[in-house]
Amino acid sequence: MSQPCVNIGMVGHVDHGKTTLVRSLSGVWTDKHSEELKRGISIRLGYADTTLMKCPTCPEPRCYSVKKECPHCGAKTEQVRTISFVDSPGHETLMATMLSGAAIMDGAILVIAANEECPQPQTKEHLMALDIIGIKNVVIVQNKIDLVNRKDVIENYKQIKEFVKGTVAENAPIIPISAQQDINIDALIDAMEKVIPAPTYKLDKDARMLIARSFDINRPGLPIDQISGGVIGGTLTEGTLKAGDELEIKPGRKVESEGAIHWDPIHTRVTGIIAGTTPVDEATPGGLLAVGTELDPDLTKSDSLTGQVAGKPGTLPSTNHSFTLRLKLLDRVVGVDDEGEIGQIKTSEPLMLNAGTATTVGIVTSAREDVAEVNLKRPVCADIGSMVAISRRIGSRWRLIGIGVIED
Ligand code: GDP
Ligand code: MG
Repeated sequence: MSQPCVNIGMVGHVDHGKTTLVRSLSGVWTDKHSEELKRGISIRLGYADTTLMKCPTCPEPRCYSVKKECPHCGAKTEQVRTISFVDSPGHETLMATMLSGAAIMDGAILVIAANEECPQPQTKEHLMALDIIGIKNVVIVQNKIDLVNRKDVIENYKQIKEFVKGTVAENAPIIPISAQQDINIDALIDAMEKVIPAPTYKLDKDARMLIARSFDINRPGLPIDQISGGVIGGTLTEGTLKAGDELEIKPGRKVESEGAIHWDPIHTRVTGIIAGTTPVDEATPGGLLAVGTELDPDLTKSDSLTGQVAGKPGTLPSTNHSFTLRLKLLDRVVGVDDEGEIGQIKTSEPLMLNAGTATTVGIVTSAREDVAEVNLKRPVCADIGSMVAISRRIGSRWRLIGIGVIED
């Protein structure tokens, strides 16, 4: 399998079939190499790669499948491209995870169950997140059509059409499928081919990696000479990476000395890279990578480096302990029964901020209509001009209320 060229997010309300769809699209390529590095990352990242295949003789969309032999005529299929799915949790308490995932999505499949009223709360919240973050390449899947009759599928289709009006998904194709029974998967692949192209990556830039997960892949009790270094998982946004490359990771490690806290960048070297399930000599952007390092695995265990940024030493943005954000707030809160108005941001209110794959809480130190200054509880390494998703605590949880652009 070649390295994936695009990351596609699976988003939508809980139980609408995201994970089932990822499985039906990627199930064929079982992992034949069972090294721990690979096992670790594919389980922990909630993602899967798949190679889309095309029959040389059958017409579109029937020609598409994920099988080596065409399910219609039995001809040997040809590879179209390898793609990577980022499966996001649909549960409402996991919005922060969905937003961090959104940082690495080039496009998305919005999964909507045909046997429920549309929209359900997180259908709405996830679409709004795609909309405000600017993920424009969206395919809508109307799933579970095996459970509803034709009339209700059409009724549900009309509800979806009405719901997406005025959003980024207004003109997105709506593909009726059954993820569980593999119905219309060919039409879905056809839509993905047309609507979610691979971005053009800047390979000549210095490597920049957003860290989505980090872990210790060693089994407890291994002899010291067999211990592997810490592993970071994430995606390259630009540049390339190979074994032997030096890495800087920022903000790095929290150090407390004489009552003061500061963050020291971490320096290490790449020892090996797995792209999807395949070891590669050189990794490029697209798909999720597991990068082996020389770090003490204690530093990377249990996602302790999630949200940090890795790259060539000296090339990363500075570590921010505060942000000035130019605001673009929504009018109303969505994804709740009571969709109240979003008032202005107020001084000393806490906000949850998602910048890249990082999630942090910031306390507002000053706020005007369209600009807010926030002090971060946990610093973030991010470029000036990049976007931050802003959530406010409403009731018992964080709700997305808008975005901000980092001014300094
Ligand atoms: P997720 O929360 O969106 O990831 O949803 P899952 O993929 O875990 O699916 C939730 C439930 O719906 C599971 O019991 C699936 O077997 C079932 N399911 C998913 N897709 C279909 C489908 O196309 N038809 C039917 N009948 N059930 C489905
Ligand atoms: Mg799921």
